[in-house]
Amino acid sequence: MVEQVVVGGGLAGLASAWHLARRGCEVVVLEAREPGHDGASSHGRARMTRSTYGSPLYVDLVREALDRDWPELEAQSGESLIRPVPAVFFGPPTGLFGAFRRATLDAGVTDLEELSPGSARERFPALGIRRTDGVLLDGTGGVISADRTIRVLRERVREAGVEVRTEAPVTGVSRGSRLSLTVGGEHPGELEAQRILVCAGACTARVLPEVSCIVPRRQVVGYAAPGDPDAPSVNWARLDEGLVYGLPAHAGDGAKMAGHRLTGPADDPTVRMPVTHEETLALRRTLGPALRSVPTLARVETCLYAVTKSEDPVLTQLDDPRISVLAGLSGHGFKLGPLLGRIASRVALGEGSGVAAFDVNRARFGLRR
Ligand SMILES: Cc1cc2nc3c(=O)[nH]c(=O)nc-3n(C[C@H](O)[C@H](O)[C@H](O)COP(=O)(O)OP(=O)(O)OC[C@H]3O[C@@H](n4cnc5c(N)ncnc54)[C@H](O)[C@@H]3O)c2cc1C
Repeated sequence: MVEQVVVGGGLAGLASAWHLARRGCEVVVLEAREPGHDGASSHGRARMTRSTYGSPLYVDLVREALDRDWPELEAQSGESLIRPVPAVFFGPPTGLFGAFRRATLDAGVTDLEELSPGSARERFPALGIRRTDGVLLDGTGGVISADRTIRVLRERVREAGVEVRTEAPVTGVSRGSRLSLTVGGEHPGELEAQRILVCAGACTARVLPEVSCIVPRRQVVGYAAPGDPDAPSVNWARLDEGLVYGLPAHAGDGAKMAGHRLTGPADDPTVRMPVTHEETLALRRTLGPALRSVPTLARVETCLYAVTKSEDPVLTQLDDPRISVLAGLSGHGFKLGPLLGRIASRVALGEGSGVAAFDVNRARFGLRR
């Protein structure tokens, strides 16, 4: 019998497995394909970090992750994983921009500057800032090297003695007096476990049907050609009816840009659908109001969100305390991944998280929402 099985070897599963192993647990990760594969959510080269959020809870969680968890992972691996790049938030002062501005200022982020639209237009000429917009310059912003983070976590996990089984999809969990998993793929069979932590991203409800609050949503993401003069060289987000965002060129990729799709029908997370011409045109239309001139999109690809209605992840023990979940990290969970993995390791062991912002808001991370 394995002491602790982690289902899913994306960012959440690897970060959790690392912390569990460091707490002395025997850990096996079962990953349906390969960690960081391009049919899930953790693939690609770049993710944005920022403190600007619509809820003080996330300002606090980002602060904790940036103060403790990212530096720890960087120190343990001897690699720098976050490149400081400011983030420019803009939009009509009422509505979504106003809510983000208030929440972030109220939470006491100091490295935050309010710019007049005139000076912001001069400093960031590629952005479609209007004369009536509010503008915040978030000096805590950065670009996370996503693919290197996954590699570094794989190395840490191996070093900590975790066994990562790839091509090992979990097809069922049996919860009798003995807890066991049915595993398909290259090495089919049953595996008994004392505890299971499910970090299966957009496929979580397929493993645990009661976690139906997590919905898979396919996102369409475009990249400008490297060096395109129309592409912004900072992190940015236009907040109006929804969130449209972009990151600068990074590690050989041109600037990345997309809209945040949170509504509409759920997608099948197991089916790869190519990006259609209509979707590329729709992405250009979404980007239109956010950029002075939308660059030619040299590449367009998809990435899956695992998203709850509130965009709060699920991070909880189930009624059966042998089973816990960390999933539904939505389109903003990468920056929090190492912190959420630390918290999940403690939740799985039935302990307090040790993170005040999480403990006070625990109900937001449960199943009833
Ligand atoms: C387009 C896009 C842009 C984003 N931008 C940002 C950003 O700028 N900043 C930010 O902070 N965050 C961002 N995110 C969010 C972040 O990337 C995700 O929240 C995070 O990567 C989710 O990691 P995960 O481990 O929960 O999920 P995943 O990476 O999807 O991992 C889940 C793993 O579980 C495996 N699995 C599934 N079912 C089974 C099964 N039955 N058995 C075994 N294994 C299974 C899958 O194969 C997969 O490897 C973005 C996400 C997307 C899609």
